[in-house]
Amino acid sequence: MNLEAFPRVRLGHWPTPLEPMRRLQAHLSGPDGPRLFIKRDDCTGLATGGSKTRKLEFLLGEAVRQGADTLLTHGAVQSNHVRQTAAAAAFAGLQCEALLEARVTNAPAEYADSGNVFLDKLFGTRLHTVPGGTAMDAALEDLATRLRAEGRKPYVIPGGGSNALGSLGYVDCVLELVQQCRAMGLKKPHIVHATGSAGTQAGLVAGIHALGLGWPVTGIGVRAAREVQEARVHALAQRVLDLLGHATPLPRDKVVADDGYIGAGYGQPTAGMVEALQMVARHEGILIDPVYTGKGMAGMVAMLRARRFAADEDVIFVHTGGATALFGYRWAFDTALA
Ligand SMILES: *Cc1c(COP(=O)(O)O)cnc(C)c1O
Repeated sequence: MNLEAFPRVRLGHWPTPLEPMRRLQAHLSGPDGPRLFIKRDDCTGLATGGSKTRKLEFLLGEAVRQGADTLLTHGAVQSNHVRQTAAAAAFAGLQCEALLEARVTNAPAEYADSGNVFLDKLFGTRLHTVPGGTAMDAALEDLATRLRAEGRKPYVIPGGGSNALGSLGYVDCVLELVQQCRAMGLKKPHIVHATGSAGTQAGLVAGIHALGLGWPVTGIGVRAAREVQEARVHALAQRVLDLLGHATPLPRDKVVADDGYIGAGYGQPTAGMVEALQMVARHEGILIDPVYTGKGMAGMVAMLRARRFAADEDVIFVHTGGATALFGYRWAFDTALA
Protein backbone atom coordinates (compact mmCIF):
# COMPACT_ATOMS: atom_id res chain seq x y z
CA MET A 1 0.00 0.00 0.00
CA ASN A 2 1.75 3.13 -1.19
CA LEU A 3 0.37 6.54 -0.30
CA GLU A 4 3.54 8.21 -1.61
CA ALA A 5 2.12 7.88 -5.12
CA PHE A 6 -0.42 10.63 -4.43
CA PRO A 7 0.44 14.35 -4.43
CA ARG A 8 0.10 15.74 -0.94
CA VAL A 9 0.47 19.08 0.82
CA ARG A 10 1.62 18.84 4.40
CA LEU A 11 -0.94 20.60 6.65
CA GLY A 12 -0.96 18.71 9.94
CA HIS A 13 1.15 17.65 12.90
CA TRP A 14 1.68 13.88 12.58
CA PRO A 15 1.24 11.45 14.15
CA THR A 16 -1.59 12.71 16.33
CA PRO A 17 -1.30 11.31 19.87
CA LEU A 18 -2.97 8.08 20.99
CA GLU A 19 -3.72 8.53 24.68
CA PRO A 20 -5.34 6.49 27.46
CA MET A 21 -8.57 7.82 28.99
CA ARG A 22 -7.89 6.53 32.49
CA ARG A 23 -10.54 8.40 34.45
CA LEU A 24 -13.26 7.77 31.88
CA GLN A 25 -12.26 4.11 31.85
CA ALA A 26 -12.52 3.89 35.66
CA HIS A 27 -15.91 5.61 35.48
CA LEU A 28 -17.45 3.52 32.68
CA SER A 29 -15.48 0.35 32.31
CA GLY A 30 -13.99 -0.55 35.69
CA PRO A 31 -10.99 -2.77 36.43
CA ASP A 32 -12.28 -5.79 34.48
CA GLY A 33 -13.70 -4.01 31.43
CA PRO A 34 -12.09 -2.93 28.18
CA ARG A 35 -9.38 -0.28 28.22
CA LEU A 36 -10.27 3.10 26.71
CA PHE A 37 -8.06 5.21 24.43
CA ILE A 38 -8.52 8.34 22.37
CA LYS A 39 -6.87 9.12 19.03
CA ARG A 40 -6.38 12.87 19.13
CA ASP A 41 -7.29 13.91 15.59
CA ASP A 42 -8.66 17.05 17.20
CA CYS A 43 -4.95 17.94 17.53
CA THR A 44 -3.98 17.90 13.85
CA GLY A 45 -2.84 21.49 14.20
CA LEU A 46 -4.67 23.16 11.29
CA ALA A 47 -7.07 25.89 12.42
CA THR A 48 -7.89 24.23 15.80
CA GLY A 49 -7.56 20.77 14.24
CA GLY A 50 -9.87 17.99 13.14
CA SER A 51 -10.34 15.08 10.79
CA LYS A 52 -10.58 17.16 7.64
CA THR A 53 -6.87 18.00 7.84
CA ARG A 54 -6.05 14.43 6.85
CA LYS A 55 -8.36 14.52 3.84
CA LEU A 56 -7.28 17.99 2.77
CA GLU A 57 -3.60 17.01 2.52
CA PHE A 58 -4.50 14.79 -0.44
CA LEU A 59 -7.23 17.03 -1.88
CA LEU A 60 -5.05 20.13 -1.77
CA GLY A 61 -2.20 18.10 -3.26
CA GLU A 62 -4.40 17.35 -6.26
CA ALA A 63 -5.73 20.94 -6.47
CA VAL A 64 -2.18 22.29 -6.61
CA ARG A 65 -1.19 19.68 -9.18
CA GLN A 66 -4.09 20.85 -11.36
CA GLY A 67 -3.08 24.50 -11.01
CA ALA A 68 -6.29 25.55 -9.24
CA ASP A 69 -6.58 29.09 -7.86
CA THR A 70 -9.70 28.55 -5.72
CA LEU A 71 -11.00 25.80 -3.42
CA LEU A 72 -14.76 25.31 -3.56
CA THR A 73 -16.68 23.21 -1.08
CA HIS A 74 -19.90 22.94 0.91
CA GLY A 75 -21.15 21.98 4.36
CA ALA A 76 -23.66 22.76 7.06
CA VAL A 77 -23.53 26.27 8.56
CA GLN A 78 -21.33 25.09 11.47
CA SER A 79 -19.18 22.93 9.18
CA ASN A 80 -15.76 21.97 10.51
CA HIS A 81 -14.85 20.86 7.01
CA VAL A 82 -15.47 24.33 5.58
CA ARG A 83 -13.39 25.92 8.36
CA GLN A 84 -10.45 23.59 7.73
CA THR A 85 -10.72 24.00 3.95
CA ALA A 86 -10.70 27.78 4.43
CA ALA A 87 -7.47 27.53 6.44
CA ALA A 88 -5.86 25.13 3.96
CA ALA A 89 -6.64 27.54 1.12
CA ALA A 90 -5.10 30.44 3.04
CA PHE A 91 -1.99 28.35 3.72
CA ALA A 92 -1.61 27.47 0.05
CA GLY A 93 -2.37 31.00 -1.20
CA LEU A 94 -5.63 29.97 -2.88
CA GLN A 95 -9.02 31.65 -2.67
CA CYS A 96 -11.89 29.79 -1.01
CA GLU A 97 -15.64 29.87 -1.55
CA ALA A 98 -18.13 27.73 0.34
CA LEU A 99 -21.83 26.98 0.18
CA LEU A 100 -23.38 26.65 3.63
CA GLU A 101 -26.61 24.66 3.89
CA ALA A 102 -28.97 25.99 6.58
CA ARG A 103 -29.93 22.52 7.88
CA VAL A 104 -30.50 23.64 11.48
CA THR A 105 -33.23 26.29 11.55
CA ASN A 106 -34.36 26.27 15.19
CA ALA A 107 -31.18 27.81 16.65
CA PRO A 108 -30.48 31.29 17.97
CA ALA A 109 -28.35 33.81 16.04
CA GLU A 110 -25.02 32.55 17.46
CA TYR A 111 -25.46 29.38 15.40
CA ALA A 112 -25.27 31.39 12.19
CA ASP A 113 -22.45 33.78 13.08
CA SER A 114 -20.23 32.35 15.85
CA GLY A 115 -18.06 29.20 16.07
CA ASN A 116 -16.96 27.96 12.66
CA VAL A 117 -18.74 30.71 10.69
CA PHE A 118 -16.72 33.38 12.48
CA LEU A 119 -13.50 31.48 11.72
CA ASP A 120 -14.45 30.94 8.04
CA LYS A 121 -14.69 34.70 7.74
CA LEU A 122 -11.37 35.29 9.49
CA PHE A 123 -9.74 33.07 6.87
CA GLY A 124 -11.20 35.28 4.15
CA THR A 125 -13.60 32.69 2.72
CA ARG A 126 -16.54 33.86 0.65
CA LEU A 127 -19.67 32.24 2.12
CA HIS A 128 -22.94 31.62 0.30
CA THR A 129 -25.78 30.40 2.53
CA VAL A 130 -28.51 28.32 0.86
CA PRO A 131 -31.71 26.80 2.31
CA GLY A 132 -31.76 23.32 3.91
CA GLY A 133 -32.62 20.62 1.39
CA THR A 134 -30.73 22.28 -1.49
CA ALA A 135 -29.05 19.76 -3.81
CA MET A 136 -25.60 20.77 -2.61
CA ASP A 137 -23.37 18.93 -5.08
CA ALA A 138 -25.34 20.36 -8.01
CA ALA A 139 -25.29 23.86 -6.47
CA LEU A 140 -21.54 23.60 -6.03
CA GLU A 141 -21.10 22.60 -9.68
CA ASP A 142 -23.19 25.64 -10.68
CA LEU A 143 -20.89 27.87 -8.65
CA ALA A 144 -17.84 26.24 -10.25
CA THR A 145 -19.30 26.88 -13.71
CA ARG A 146 -19.89 30.56 -12.85
CA LEU A 147 -16.33 30.96 -11.58
CA ARG A 148 -14.85 29.23 -14.65
CA ALA A 149 -16.80 31.66 -16.85
CA GLU A 150 -15.02 34.47 -14.97
CA GLY A 151 -11.66 32.90 -15.81
CA ARG A 152 -11.02 31.33 -12.40
CA LYS A 153 -9.74 27.80 -11.87
CA PRO A 154 -11.78 26.24 -9.08
CA TYR A 155 -11.05 22.85 -7.54
CA VAL A 156 -14.27 21.31 -6.26
CA ILE A 157 -14.07 19.43 -2.96
CA PRO A 158 -17.19 17.39 -2.08
CA GLY A 159 -18.94 17.83 1.27
CA GLY A 160 -16.77 16.58 4.13
CA GLY A 161 -13.90 16.03 1.68
CA SER A 162 -15.38 12.56 1.33
CA ASN A 163 -14.33 11.13 -2.00
CA ALA A 164 -11.81 8.31 -2.47
CA LEU A 165 -8.85 10.67 -2.63
CA GLY A 166 -9.79 12.50 0.59
CA SER A 167 -10.46 9.21 2.37
CA LEU A 168 -6.82 8.24 1.87
CA GLY A 169 -6.21 10.49 4.85
CA TYR A 170 -7.85 7.88 7.05
CA VAL A 171 -5.88 5.07 5.46
CA ASP A 172 -2.89 7.04 6.68
CA CYS A 173 -4.49 7.23 10.14
CA VAL A 174 -4.59 3.40 10.20
CA LEU A 175 -0.87 3.34 9.43
CA GLU A 176 -0.26 5.65 12.42
CA LEU A 177 -2.42 3.48 14.66
CA VAL A 178 -0.56 0.31 13.69
CA GLN A 179 2.69 1.86 14.95
CA GLN A 180 1.10 3.34 18.07
CA CYS A 181 -0.78 0.18 19.05
CA ARG A 182 2.43 -1.82 18.73
CA ALA A 183 4.43 0.68 20.79
CA MET A 184 1.74 0.95 23.50
CA GLY A 185 0.79 -2.74 23.68
CA LEU A 186 -2.79 -2.55 22.35
CA LYS A 187 -3.51 -6.07 21.11
CA LYS A 188 -7.20 -5.99 20.20
CA PRO A 189 -8.13 -2.49 19.02
CA HIS A 190 -11.81 -1.72 18.41
CA ILE A 191 -12.31 1.66 16.77
CA VAL A 192 -15.34 3.84 17.51
CA HIS A 193 -16.01 7.17 15.77
CA ALA A 194 -18.73 9.46 14.42
CA THR A 195 -19.69 8.98 10.77
CA GLY A 196 -21.28 11.67 8.60
CA SER A 197 -20.17 12.16 4.99
CA ALA A 198 -18.55 8.69 5.21
CA GLY A 199 -14.93 9.40 4.26
CA THR A 200 -13.48 8.82 7.71
CA GLN A 201 -15.02 5.40 8.11
CA ALA A 202 -14.35 4.46 4.46
CA GLY A 203 -10.66 5.24 4.87
CA LEU A 204 -10.45 3.41 8.19
CA VAL A 205 -12.16 0.22 7.03
CA ALA A 206 -10.31 0.26 3.69
CA GLY A 207 -6.95 0.65 5.42
CA ILE A 208 -7.72 -2.05 7.98
CA HIS A 209 -8.90 -4.40 5.21
CA ALA A 210 -5.92 -3.72 2.94
CA LEU A 211 -3.52 -4.43 5.80
CA GLY A 212 -5.46 -7.53 6.90
CA LEU A 213 -5.67 -6.29 10.50
CA GLY A 214 -9.19 -7.50 11.30
CA TRP A 215 -9.86 -4.64 13.72
CA PRO A 216 -13.59 -3.96 14.21
CA VAL A 217 -14.82 -0.42 13.48
CA THR A 218 -18.09 0.88 14.89
CA GLY A 219 -19.34 4.03 13.20
CA ILE A 220 -21.92 6.07 15.08
CA GLY A 221 -24.16 7.84 12.58
CA VAL A 222 -24.99 11.54 12.92
CA ARG A 223 -27.48 11.96 10.09
CA ALA A 224 -28.50 8.94 7.98
CA ALA A 225 -30.42 5.72 8.66
CA ARG A 226 -28.21 2.70 9.21
CA GLU A 227 -28.77 0.98 5.83
CA VAL A 228 -28.20 4.20 3.88
CA GLN A 229 -25.04 5.11 5.78
CA GLU A 230 -23.55 1.62 5.67
CA ALA A 231 -24.15 1.38 1.91
CA ARG A 232 -22.55 4.80 1.40
CA VAL A 233 -19.49 3.92 3.50
CA HIS A 234 -19.11 0.52 1.86
CA ALA A 235 -19.26 1.93 -1.68
CA LEU A 236 -16.74 4.64 -0.84
CA ALA A 237 -14.39 2.20 0.93
CA GLN A 238 -14.49 0.02 -2.17
CA ARG A 239 -13.46 3.04 -4.28
CA VAL A 240 -10.61 3.73 -1.84
CA LEU A 241 -9.40 0.13 -2.24
CA ASP A 242 -9.60 0.52 -6.04
CA LEU A 243 -7.49 3.68 -5.81
CA LEU A 244 -4.95 1.76 -3.73
CA GLY A 245 -4.93 -1.07 -6.26
CA HIS A 246 -6.15 -3.57 -3.68
CA ALA A 247 -8.06 -6.30 -5.48
CA THR A 248 -9.83 -8.22 -2.67
CA PRO A 249 -13.36 -6.82 -2.22
CA LEU A 250 -14.45 -5.49 1.17
CA PRO A 251 -17.09 -7.72 2.82
CA ARG A 252 -20.26 -5.71 3.44
CA ASP A 253 -20.40 -6.81 7.11
CA LYS A 254 -17.16 -4.93 7.85
CA VAL A 255 -19.19 -1.71 7.75
CA VAL A 256 -21.28 -0.91 10.83
CA ALA A 257 -22.96 2.49 11.25
CA ASP A 258 -25.27 2.54 14.27
CA ASP A 259 -28.05 5.12 13.83
CA GLY A 260 -29.32 5.02 17.40
CA TYR A 261 -27.83 8.32 18.59
CA ILE A 262 -28.92 10.84 15.94
CA GLY A 263 -31.94 12.17 17.83
CA ALA A 264 -34.14 14.61 15.88
CA GLY A 265 -31.63 14.93 13.06
CA TYR A 266 -28.27 16.24 11.88
CA GLY A 267 -26.92 18.97 14.13
CA GLN A 268 -29.85 18.69 16.55
CA PRO A 269 -28.68 18.36 20.17
CA THR A 270 -29.58 15.22 22.16
CA ALA A 271 -29.53 14.54 25.91
CA GLY A 272 -26.99 11.77 25.30
CA MET A 273 -24.67 14.20 23.50
CA VAL A 274 -24.89 16.74 26.34
CA GLU A 275 -24.19 14.01 28.91
CA ALA A 276 -21.25 12.52 26.97
CA LEU A 277 -19.74 15.93 26.29
CA GLN A 278 -19.79 16.88 29.96
CA MET A 279 -18.54 13.44 31.01
CA VAL A 280 -15.46 13.68 28.77
CA ALA A 281 -14.85 17.30 29.76
CA ARG A 282 -15.04 16.48 33.48
CA HIS A 283 -13.13 13.19 33.47
CA GLU A 284 -10.47 13.88 30.86
CA GLY A 285 -10.32 17.66 30.39
CA ILE A 286 -11.03 17.09 26.69
CA LEU A 287 -13.56 19.00 24.62
CA ILE A 288 -15.65 17.05 22.13
CA ASP A 289 -18.28 18.60 19.86
CA PRO A 290 -22.08 18.87 19.74
CA VAL A 291 -22.65 17.63 16.17
CA TYR A 292 -20.32 14.65 15.67
CA THR A 293 -18.04 13.45 18.45
CA GLY A 294 -20.64 14.20 21.16
CA LYS A 295 -23.07 11.79 19.50
CA GLY A 296 -20.27 9.34 18.70
CA MET A 297 -19.21 9.38 22.34
CA ALA A 298 -22.85 8.98 23.46
CA GLY A 299 -22.82 5.79 21.38
CA MET A 300 -19.59 4.57 22.95
CA VAL A 301 -20.89 5.30 26.47
CA ALA A 302 -24.09 3.36 25.76
CA MET A 303 -22.10 0.41 24.36
CA LEU A 304 -19.86 0.35 27.45
CA ARG A 305 -22.86 0.46 29.76
CA ALA A 306 -24.47 -2.41 27.83
CA ARG A 307 -21.19 -4.42 27.98
CA ARG A 308 -21.06 -4.57 24.19
CA PHE A 309 -17.22 -4.73 24.05
CA ALA A 310 -15.21 -7.79 25.05
CA ALA A 311 -13.20 -7.27 28.25
CA ASP A 312 -9.90 -7.79 26.39
CA GLU A 313 -10.66 -5.21 23.69
CA ASP A 314 -8.86 -1.87 23.58
CA VAL A 315 -11.51 0.63 22.59
CA ILE A 316 -10.09 3.56 20.61
CA PHE A 317 -12.36 6.56 20.18
CA VAL A 318 -11.21 8.63 17.21
CA HIS A 319 -11.66 12.26 18.23
CA THR A 320 -12.37 13.84 14.86
CA GLY A 321 -12.44 17.43 16.22
CA GLY A 322 -15.21 20.01 16.02
CA ALA A 323 -15.14 21.70 19.43
CA THR A 324 -15.13 25.16 17.82
CA ALA A 325 -18.79 24.50 16.96
CA LEU A 326 -19.51 24.63 20.72
CA PHE A 327 -19.57 28.41 20.44
CA GLY A 328 -22.46 28.13 18.00
CA TYR A 329 -24.25 25.74 20.37
CA ARG A 330 -24.18 27.45 23.78
CA TRP A 331 -27.99 27.29 23.82
CA ALA A 332 -27.96 23.48 23.74
CA PHE A 333 -26.37 23.44 27.23
CA ASP A 334 -28.70 25.91 28.96
CA THR A 335 -30.51 23.24 31.01
CA ALA A 336 -27.41 21.16 31.77
CA LEU A 337 -25.44 24.16 33.05
CA ALA A 338 -28.27 26.03 34.78
C1 LIG B 1 -16.68 15.72 9.36
C2 LIG B 1 -16.63 15.29 10.77
C3 LIG B 1 -16.93 13.97 11.14
C4 LIG B 1 -17.48 12.94 10.21
O1 LIG B 1 -16.54 12.44 9.31
P1 LIG B 1 -17.02 11.98 7.89
O2 LIG B 1 -15.78 11.63 7.19
O3 LIG B 1 -17.74 13.16 7.30
O4 LIG B 1 -17.94 10.83 8.04
C5 LIG B 1 -16.80 13.62 12.46
N1 LIG B 1 -16.42 14.52 13.39
C6 LIG B 1 -16.15 15.79 13.07
C7 LIG B 1 -15.77 16.72 14.16
C8 LIG B 1 -16.24 16.22 11.76
O5 LIG B 1 -15.99 17.50 11.47
